[in-house]
Amino acid sequence: MGKVTGFMEYGRIEEGYKPVTERLKHYKEFVIGLDDAQANKQAARCMDCGTPFCNNGCPVNNIIPDFNDMVFRNDWKAAIDTLHSTNNFPEFTGRICPAPCEAACTLNVNDDAVGIKSIEHAIIDRAWAEGWVLAQPPTSKTGKKVAVVGSGPAGMAAAQQLARVGHAVTLFEKNDRVGGLLRYGIPDFKMEKSHIDRRVDQLVKEGVTIRTGVQVGEIPKGFKVTNWAKETISATQLQADFDAVLLTGGSEQSRDLPVPGRDLDGIHFAMEFLPQQNKVNAGDKVKGQLRATDKHVIVIGGGDTGSDCVGTSNRHGAASVTQFEVMPQPPAEENRPMTWPYWPIKLRTSSSHDEGCSREFAISTKEFIGEKGKVTGLKTVRVEWQGGKMVEVAGSEQVLKADLVLLAMGFVNPVSAVLEAFGVDKDARGNAKATTDCQGGYATSVPKVFAAGDMRRGQSLVVWAIREGRQAARSVDEFLMGVSDLPR
Ligand SMILES: Cc1cc2nc3c(=O)[nH]c(=O)nc-3n(C[C@H](O)[C@H](O)[C@H](O)COP(=O)(O)OP(=O)(O)OC[C@H]3O[C@@H](n4cnc5c(N)ncnc54)[C@H](O)[C@@H]3O)c2cc1C
Ligand code: SF4
Repeated sequence: MGKVTGFMEYGRIEEGYKPVTERLKHYKEFVIGLDDAQANKQAARCMDCGTPFCNNGCPVNNIIPDFNDMVFRNDWKAAIDTLHSTNNFPEFTGRICPAPCEAACTLNVNDDAVGIKSIEHAIIDRAWAEGWVLAQPPTSKTGKKVAVVGSGPAGMAAAQQLARVGHAVTLFEKNDRVGGLLRYGIPDFKMEKSHIDRRVDQLVKEGVTIRTGVQVGEIPKGFKVTNWAKETISATQLQADFDAVLLTGGSEQSRDLPVPGRDLDGIHFAMEFLPQQNKVNAGDKVKGQLRATDKHVIVIGGGDTGSDCVGTSNRHGAASVTQFEVMPQPPAEENRPMTWPYWPIKLRTSSSHDEGCSREFAISTKEFIGEKGKVTGLKTVRVEWQGGKMVEVAGSEQVLKADLVLLAMGFVNPVSAVLEAFGVDKDARGNAKATTDCQGGYATSVPKVFAAGDMRRGQSLVVWAIREGRQAARSVDEFLMGVSDLPR
C-alpha cells in the first residue's frame, strides 16, 4: 500500500475534457488524461484492501491494488507488466470501459471510488510512449493451426494469446479493417483507431495472419450492416484446414422497431449510421453518407450506442438531437449500501449528452409519420411500468418532429448464418451455446469449434469480450495440447 493515509488526504481527480465548442469541430479524442503527479496522488488513495472488491468487479480481474501501489512508487514499468498480465489491451478499456471495478471499489461505499480507469489509462499511455509495449513472438511453434472468426476485442485477445504460445493463428474478418465494434461502432472521439492499428502491428509481429474482407459462411440475404466482404470461405473448408476454430463474430443483429411507418426513408439502425462516419474519418469515401446536418434527429435507445449517435449527430451539425429511453429516469445517485459492490442503476450523463441533447424518459414510439415516403415525425406516448409491465398513459400521445431517426435499441443476437453454417447449437437467446467452465469451457456442440465474446454471451462490453477471448484461448490451447499455461 502506497500511502496509508492517502484516501483521507486526497480526493478523486477526474480526467478533464476539452471544451465542447472545440471538440464538436472534430472526431478526435478529447479526454485529458491524468499527468504523472495526478496519477500518483490518485493511486495513493488506494487502501490496498485485504479483499480487493475492485479486482472481483473487473471482468478481466485486473490486479488493481498492485498497479496502484506501483504507480504511487513511480514504478511505471512494473505497473504495465502487471496490467498486461490480465488485460491484452488496456488502452481500449482505459478509454471506453464503464469501469465496473470503480463501482466495486471499497472507497465507493461512502466516498468517491479510486479513479482506477484513469490510472489504467495513464499506465498504458506511458508504456506506449516509453516503448515498453513490444511484440512477444513465441519461442517455438506447436504446429497447430487455429482459425479465429471475427476480429473484435474477443477475437484479437484470443488470437494474441494463442499466437504467443506458438499456434499458427489466422484471424478472419468480413469487414475491411480489424477491430469489430471498436473499429466500426465506437466513434473515434471516444477511441481513435490508431490504438487498434498499433495492436494489429503487434499481432502480425507475433505471427498472426490477418485476412480481412473474408466472410466465413455465406453472406446472409439482406444483411447490409458494415459488410465489406470481398470473398467467402465455407465453414466446411475452415474445419478441414484448421485444428480448431474459434467463433468471435459478435452480436450483430440490431433490435428493430416494427411499428407503422418503419419503412419510411430516414429511419436507420445506429449501425448503419456510425460505421460510415468512422470510415470517413479513416479517409475512405462513403457514397451518399447518412448525415444529420441541419436535421431534427431522434435517437431511440438510451444506452451507449444511442449516446454515440448523439455525439456523431452533433458533430454533423444537427438542428436538434433528442434521445428516447423507454424506462423511467433513474435516480441521480444510487443507494450505495443497497447496490455496492454491484453495478448501480443511476442517471448517467455521457460526454455526448453534455454536447447538446434533450433526453426523454418513459416514452414509447407508436408510429413513424411521413410525407412523400420520408419520415417527418414520431407519434409517441408516455409509459409507466406497473408490475414489470409497460402501460401507456392515457391522453399522453404527442407528435415530435424528426427528419432522421436512429434506432439504437441494442442487438438481439448474432447473425445466425455463421452459427448455422457450422451447425452450432444456440441458446434460448440465439447466441452460440457454450459454457465458461474451467474444463472444456467455450466449446460449442460441434467438435473443435469454440465460441466467445458477444457471439456467446450476447451484447456486452469490450472488457467482457477481452476476458472471454483470453479464457477461450486457454480452452482451445488445452484442447490442442492437453495442458495450457495460458492464464484464465
Ligand atoms: C455503438 C457502440 C458503442 C459501444 N460502446 C461501448 C463502450 O463505450 N464500452 C464498452 O465496453 N463496450 C461498448 N460497446 C460494446 C462493445 O463494442 C462490444 O461488446 C464488443 O466489441 C464485443 O466484442 P466481440 O469481439 O465479441 O465482437 P465485435 O466487436 O462485434 O466483433 C465481431 C467481429 O466479427 C466479424 N464477423 C462477424 N461474423 C463474421 C463472419 N461470418 N466472418 C468473418 N467475420 C465476421 C464482425 O465483422 C466484427 O468485426 C459498444 C457497442 C456499440 C455497437
Ligand atoms: S477496492 Fe478500491 S481501495 Fe480497495 S484495493 Fe481496490 S482500488 Fe484500492
